[in-house]
Amino acid sequence: MEHWTPVFVGLGSNLDQPVRQIQAAFVALSQLEQCRLLARSPLFRSAPMGPQDQPWYVNAVAGLLTRLDPHRLLDELQALEHSFGRSRARERWGPRTLDLDLLLFGRQVIDDARLVIPHPGLTERNFVVYPLLRIAPDLTLPDGRRLASIRDQLRSDGLEEIMSTELSGDRPT
Ligand code: AMP
Repeated sequence: MEHWTPVFVGLGSNLDQPVRQIQAAFVALSQLEQCRLLARSPLFRSAPMGPQDQPWYVNAVAGLLTRLDPHRLLDELQALEHSFGRSRARERWGPRTLDLDLLLFGRQVIDDARLVIPHPGLTERNFVVYPLLRIAPDLTLPDGRRLASIRDQLRSDGLEEIMSTELSGDRPT
């Protein structure tokens, strides 16, 4: 693929100092072959989905340009997850050191055995929509819907922006 495609990647961590994990993941994304990291959102703290007996998550969104095709980029993101120590054997929605989701790939719509784009959770998860809007306030989805309108239908429950001076993703008491 010769041209550069704008893509957005969702980051999440709730193990082993999640703020540091997300910061390190941004650095790793900036070093990916055939990619340019253009934007990093603020970090947010969010209540866990699924099992509640796990720490809160830290989430963020990265904006990149890539010359990779969607499946190659997914390969790279999965390799990064593994290098951050995430085990595939972990339970669904269980704790993880680093989770990377390919949210949008240009205006492409993909639905195959490995890849669903736009990511199916995108419009339902406040911890994706809010950070994404911070780096792409005018974003429209491939179906033409404005992300800002989707945000207006979403509750911000369980979502808190983390101040850049906070080193811990732990919830303040
Ligand atoms: P999860 O454990 O929730 O990160 O899901 C990982 C699985 O979702 C992998 O097997 C991927 O092939 C698949 N998958 C489908 N669509 C996407 C996407 N847009 N981004 C990341 N993983 C995806």
